[in-house]
Amino acid sequence: IGDGVITTDLDGKIELFNAVAESLTGWTASNAWGLKIGTVLKLVHEDTGEPLPDPIKRAFSQSNAQSRDDRTVLVARDGTRHAIHESASPIRSHDGATLGYIIVFQDVTEKRELMDKIVWQAHHDVLTDLPNRALLGDRLAQALANASRHDQLLAVCLVDLDGFKPINDNYGHNVGDALLRQVAMRLKDAVRSGDTVARLGGDEFVILLTELNLLEGLEPAVTRVLDAMSEPFTCEENLIYLTISMGVTVYPSDQADVDGLLRHADHAMYLVKQSGRNGYRMFDTIQEQEIRVRRELVDEFHAAMLNGDLRLFYQPKVELLTGKVVGFEALLRWQHAERGTILPEEFLAAIEHTELVVELGEWVVVTALNAIATLQTRNWELPISVNISARHLQQQDFVDRLKAKFALFPTVPPQLLELEILESGAMQDIHSARSVVVACQEMGVAVSLDDFGTGYSSLTYLKELPAQVIKIDRSFVCDMLVDEDDLALVAGVISLARAFGRRVVAEGVESPEHGLVLMRLGCDHAQGFSVARPMPFATVESWLENFQPNPLWVQWRNLEWDLHDVPILSARRASRLLADNVARAVLSMQVFHGAETVSRVQTFQGWCLGFGKDRHGELPELRATSEASTRFHERIDHLRVLCLEGAWQAAMAALPQLESERAAYERELDSLLLAVAGVGRG
Ligand code: C2E
Ligand code: CA
Ligand code: CA
Repeated sequence: IGDGVITTDLDGKIELFNAVAESLTGWTASNAWGLKIGTVLKLVHEDTGEPLPDPIKRAFSQSNAQSRDDRTVLVARDGTRHAIHESASPIRSHDGATLGYIIVFQDVTEKRELMDKIVWQAHHDVLTDLPNRALLGDRLAQALANASRHDQLLAVCLVDLDGFKPINDNYGHNVGDALLRQVAMRLKDAVRSGDTVARLGGDEFVILLTELNLLEGLEPAVTRVLDAMSEPFTCEENLIYLTISMGVTVYPSDQADVDGLLRHADHAMYLVKQSGRNGYRMFDTIQEQEIRVRRELVDEFHAAMLNGDLRLFYQPKVELLTGKVVGFEALLRWQHAERGTILPEEFLAAIEHTELVVELGEWVVVTALNAIATLQTRNWELPISVNISARHLQQQDFVDRLKAKFALFPTVPPQLLELEILESGAMQDIHSARSVVVACQEMGVAVSLDDFGTGYSSLTYLKELPAQVIKIDRSFVCDMLVDEDDLALVAGVISLARAFGRRVVAEGVESPEHGLVLMRLGCDHAQGFSVARPMPFATVESWLENFQPNPLWVQWRNLEWDLHDVPILSARRASRLLADNVARAVLSMQVFHGAETVSRVQTFQGWCLGFGKDRHGELPELRATSEASTRFHERIDHLRVLCLEGAWQAAMAALPQLESERAAYERELDSLLLAVAGVGRG
């Protein structure tokens, strides 16, 4: 028999002892005979080492052959250990009387090792011996439960090696494997024994830092891990320098579950990679919240789009020299049931990075084409421009789809649609953008460069993209009457555009004075609140019928004044703003602030006394204007005093006087402008 066999009498004294029993126990049969079974067959539990009761006691109480659980170990006479499987049973006579016991056992050491290995491998990573993803899941769940029970912190750190792939590629997989093993060891050494280091696969590891009581304890622990990598690794005689990127999230500030914590740590790790690797970053729950809000916004926007809650508003562009309407720009509006009209700045950034922006762009194009066609039926042939995001423009079939849209509106010639494209970081491939632009132009669709001057690569765009039109961004235009740098920039862009033979549209033309300055600078078209605010399509036609261009534009279009005299026009605009603000404050019974309202007037008075005097000191208009300015200014000071005294009735009663003073001042400014341009007096 290949198994160990021992029989005993009723008292458990050994009677039969076969050869296998001899070799497994280390006892010879002759020595064993007559000894108690417990003396010869020493059985302990494999994991606890506790002695197990001898098998015949068990057999005695039960009638069938019984085998023990599979963790039995036989300790031989010389101390060697064998994993065994045994069973014991009473020996009975024909009439059922118990004569003795028989114990059969076999060596299962190899089998059990194999089993153990299989079980172990299911939970560990073969290469590094670290817990694998499955076991990590268990440990993390347990650590989470412990942390919440004991009010402790639990940090989940996701570690990713920087540049592991090239190491693997250059040195070979053996070196790569050796490196991973060493990394695993260093990570284990860097944390406390109760902490878990696991390998997720590839070059990704997870560290669970447990039993942290304070957030202050986290940073040193994390730093220790980073420091552990600072020494180079030696793998098969190659010296390898390695850095890691680590994302960390901490329960309970991060209230996520097992999967959520790992995902958040991964997210933070990804941000480290993005910002140049080699370091760690805490997962930001606030940031995550923002991401979620953004995602919700995108969903809501998509629903609005399907629901027909989007509109295009139309803002006219006029020719400065003639005041003629030359077209409209279509601007997106979201008609929200509760929040009213929402402007693009509130949602565009969120959807700009999604595929939705393409779908939106297609809708915008069709809606604009429809508007053009509708205007045509009422005898208005006016081009409409639409804003196209970079992502949309870079779609493979952009041009084909555009053609398909025109096919839906056979009356609309391509010349009536314009595309405004933004210089944007999303425009990765300017050459493919160029070919789209060229293809559009071959169709007859004009392209303009939007927000010109705001990006880093405006000049590259100007050079590379054959756009016919340049739109100067409103941020420069708005402030050019009060900010000399902006004025210089606007002037520069206009002359640049001229040099390149492009048409120029200025956005943000908020006052007639803006228009006058732009005209003088050689700008072609103007768009802005002083012409009209963006309007719904329903009012476009009546607006067109009633529109009157600002008379000054036509009146002064040939006036040749020098750009050094822009302060005259700035003061003209500022006086109106100032008077309006004062009137508004008085009517709502609020004291207006003196200093800031006054500063603009003083700027002009400063000019009158300084640079203006140098240039035009001999002109009587300069003195007259300066005096008018002072009177206007004094009137405002007087009003302020009334407000401070609470004499609101008197203040309100004085408003018409303020207005007539302002008008007088404006007349002086106008004659000064005419004088410096060499017209007016004789
Ligand atoms: P943009 O292309 O620069 O459009 C001009 C913006 O200036 C519009 O803002 C317009 O209302 C505003 N504006 C016009 N005149 C004046 C003025 O005199 N003063 C001031 N301060 N602002 C003026 P809006 O409609 O809020 O649009 C903002 C941006 O959203 C647009 O800037 C454009 O880049 C984008 N956008 C608008 N509609 C669409 C669209 O259908 N698709 C895409 N992809 N983007 C759009
Ligand atoms: Ca635009
Ligand atoms: Ca703009």
